[in-house]
Amino acid sequence: MTKIVTDVICPFCGTLCDDLEVAATDDGKKIIEVYNACVIGTEKFLHSQASDRVTRPRLMQADGSYKEISYDEAAEYTAQMMAKAKKPLMYGWSSTNCEAQSMGHEIAELAKACVDNTAAVCHGTTLIAVQDIGLPTCTLGEVKNRADRIVFWGCNPAHAHPRHMSRYSIFPRGFFTGKGHKNRKLVVVDPRPTDTAKMADIHLQVTQGQDYELLNAFRVALKGEWLPDVVAGIPKEKIYEAADILKSGRFGIIFFGMGVTQSLGKNHNIDEAIAVTKDLNDYTKFSIMPMRGHYNVTGSGEVMAWQFGYPYSVDLTRGFARYNPGDTSSIDLLSRGDVDAMFTIGSDPGAHFPFNCVKKISELPSVCIDPHLTPTSGVSKLHVPVAFNGVEAGGSCYRMDNVPIDCRKVVEPPEGMLTDEQFLIMVRDRLKKMKGVA
Ligand code: SF4
Repeated sequence: MTKIVTDVICPFCGTLCDDLEVAATDDGKKIIEVYNACVIGTEKFLHSQASDRVTRPRLMQADGSYKEISYDEAAEYTAQMMAKAKKPLMYGWSSTNCEAQSMGHEIAELAKACVDNTAAVCHGTTLIAVQDIGLPTCTLGEVKNRADRIVFWGCNPAHAHPRHMSRYSIFPRGFFTGKGHKNRKLVVVDPRPTDTAKMADIHLQVTQGQDYELLNAFRVALKGEWLPDVVAGIPKEKIYEAADILKSGRFGIIFFGMGVTQSLGKNHNIDEAIAVTKDLNDYTKFSIMPMRGHYNVTGSGEVMAWQFGYPYSVDLTRGFARYNPGDTSSIDLLSRGDVDAMFTIGSDPGAHFPFNCVKKISELPSVCIDPHLTPTSGVSKLHVPVAFNGVEAGGSCYRMDNVPIDCRKVVEPPEGMLTDEQFLIMVRDRLKKMKGVA
């Protein structure tokens, strides 16, 4: 017998699709089929069913082999590590729920740790720009119903956020835009002819690293003022044409990704993109929104900001929160050898950090909390497998437009397996005792 669980949230990318249906066995133990999700989202659900899944914590031995230990022993090991460390780094948080993030921050305060999330290597520059000049933004619902001018700058949703275009930005029937994409104009800015760029009305193939120059040229073109013949590899006629298309819409949106946040100029690119959005509002209504990657990286920024005052790269070493990205961010801390323990949760720095940082993680006392076997779990001394959030556990998450959504539990985790939050509570309680905190 099967049952269908409806209104399921996909815990993969920042689009946080909330219309999935999952067929599961009646006893809630096994997923049979996933409906409505894209191929990446489907894989996330089905991966939780893998027969070779690790279901108990594993401690690395001196010879590199692993010894299975209990969750109690794993919590004790983690608490001891955090208590002994002078400056531990707690990194990740973007693939877990807000409740676990909040609990992890209690541990960070007790251990006087540095706390950082994956924004440090993706949209951290966006957060700096937003602190500089603010963000004229909207919700994805408004985009769906109103936007007739869409810009994708330095992002490729066709691959990274596969249902973004069908649910919100290009193809859905909107209240004011009507059916399909014929009333929406698409401008893509990308050095590569991506699958998203192939669908564009105008593809501006910007010279890599010259996004700032092109954004600046847009501000000039919007006013109809003089431009040199070519800017950032784009003939001026094409820039004027794109600017006219954007001005002539009734409601527009600039979605931007790591192609512009992590290329030359970094947060200054985003300053300028926000300034373009502001300028466009002299002619029509325009918004801007970062394309967030991990499904709850936005939530991590929110929780960190309301608990510590800053959205990432927080240093609690002195007993109060300090924030200085480029100094207190994970890669800088690891590269300088400033931290003496590594705690990873809900992310995979082993796959994304520079080699010298990954090597450093392998040398430090380290714990990795993750349902998967990852490059990070492979170099960490202790790997704690947990339930898949959004599949085997519920909890709050924030979509890329800052809308909080409650994830659903669809099936039971393997017997005896803990959730992120449950494991973190065990560590927090032990650490409190070690530190003599009531
Ligand atoms: S677009 Fe993102 S959130 Fe939606 S189903 Fe695909 S991976 Fe999941």
